[in-house]
Amino acid sequence: MKTLRGEAALLTTDNSHLTTEIAARFPDLHPAFDARAAMVEANRCLNCFDAPCMGACPTHIDVPRFIKKIASGNVMGSAKAILEANVLAASCSRVCPVEVLCEGSCVMHGREEKPIEIGRLQRFAMESFYDAGGKVPLRAREERPEQVACIGAGPASLACAAELRQQGFGVTVIDRRVLPGGLNTYGVAEYKLRTVDSLREVEAIRGLGVEFCTRDVDLAGLEAIEEEFDAVFLGVGLGAMHKLTVEGGSEAGVVDALEFIAQYKTAYIGETEKNLGHVIEPLQVGRSVVVIGAGNTAIDAAVAAKRLGAEIVTIVYRRQREAISAFDFEYDHALLEGVKFVWGTLPVAVKNGTDGLTLECVSVALDAKGLLAPVAGSEFCMECDVVIPAIGQAPLVELLSQVRGVEMERGRILIDRATGQTTNAKYFAGGDCVNGGREVVDAVADGKRAAVGIAGWLCGGGKSVEASL
Ligand code: SF4
Repeated sequence: MKTLRGEAALLTTDNSHLTTEIAARFPDLHPAFDARAAMVEANRCLNCFDAPCMGACPTHIDVPRFIKKIASGNVMGSAKAILEANVLAASCSRVCPVEVLCEGSCVMHGREEKPIEIGRLQRFAMESFYDAGGKVPLRAREERPEQVACIGAGPASLACAAELRQQGFGVTVIDRRVLPGGLNTYGVAEYKLRTVDSLREVEAIRGLGVEFCTRDVDLAGLEAIEEEFDAVFLGVGLGAMHKLTVEGGSEAGVVDALEFIAQYKTAYIGETEKNLGHVIEPLQVGRSVVVIGAGNTAIDAAVAAKRLGAEIVTIVYRRQREAISAFDFEYDHALLEGVKFVWGTLPVAVKNGTDGLTLECVSVALDAKGLLAPVAGSEFCMECDVVIPAIGQAPLVELLSQVRGVEMERGRILIDRATGQTTNAKYFAGGDCVNGGREVVDAVADGKRAAVGIAGWLCGGGKSVEASL
């Protein structure tokens, strides 16, 4: 592990090859505010005392404070106020389901007025800040000798790393992928968060002095890391997506949703292209695409397929509309993009022919015991060029269950909720590997909370203290 910290140079953020083609096909879902529009919107805010929007944010961003600063023309101060609570505030402003978080709790709903557009105001502040060369402030007055390893380079690890670094600890983020950022870089639909914007935010964290290295960590590697570092944060997220376990489920042309999204998002970034192998050329998805599953990732993949040129995109789901796990606004967005839905349908086989794929399906309905069962004689086929299973991610049980003393329950790491500490005192954890897969902002809150827990544990000579989040 001697050379570990020297490997940061392996990471690339050269995104100059991102073509105008992808940019043209994936314009912003919600256009950015200009300065005037932001000022007008900020002045609608009532700056509530004990503001419910702040309580609804998992990272507790002081919403009235940052909005007030925009209203008074202090945009850089607004961004700094946001960064105090959430170091990934730029990406959160684009990917947070604000309809069910801050904006969903805005008092304007009770006045039968449109809620304040908190997400767009936050985005305006953060993008103005980074466009102007703003840097995430380093709070520590002196360097501390302790070194912490953050395994995984997704939002939980990045938030943990930034907070620890701001307190003066040495931090190294280790991930198997070439580009840092986790799902922010590889897994969020481009019309919500561009890869280049995720990488810009990572650069701001690197600017604090956080080191990054690329390494596929197995158990032996983890033990070496445990020996070298004073504490370890596990922010490894979830494992690979579930495979389509039907006949022909591994045929060429069947590609899981996260891989599909990662491929088109990073198609023009040299090193990542080699890393992924690109099963499907991003601009050649074919005429017809079938997505299996009805969660938010399924919707992201379906809308992306449409924008990449597919004429017919169909989401197939075994249950009915009311049972989908995607947010309502995601479903409505998919309909607007022209995605079709076929309910109560189970794929049973994929056949590869000369003219593309055939997805064999059967209709299903609840039987007398309340279980989904095939409807006799309802078999039918769908012709398509690509099949995209989006049926959830499996937990990383194999690796994590081998970490000495780190207990798990139903595929999730057990932690102390106040500090993020696992049942092995040297290990802390947060994000999807703990919560089973929630929002980016939840991962950020987890990472920050664990950082406070780690700092308390290290400063207390190995004795836990309550985190302040
Ligand atoms: Fe402003 Fe709405 Fe928050 Fe009140 S609840 S502070 S009006 S954004």
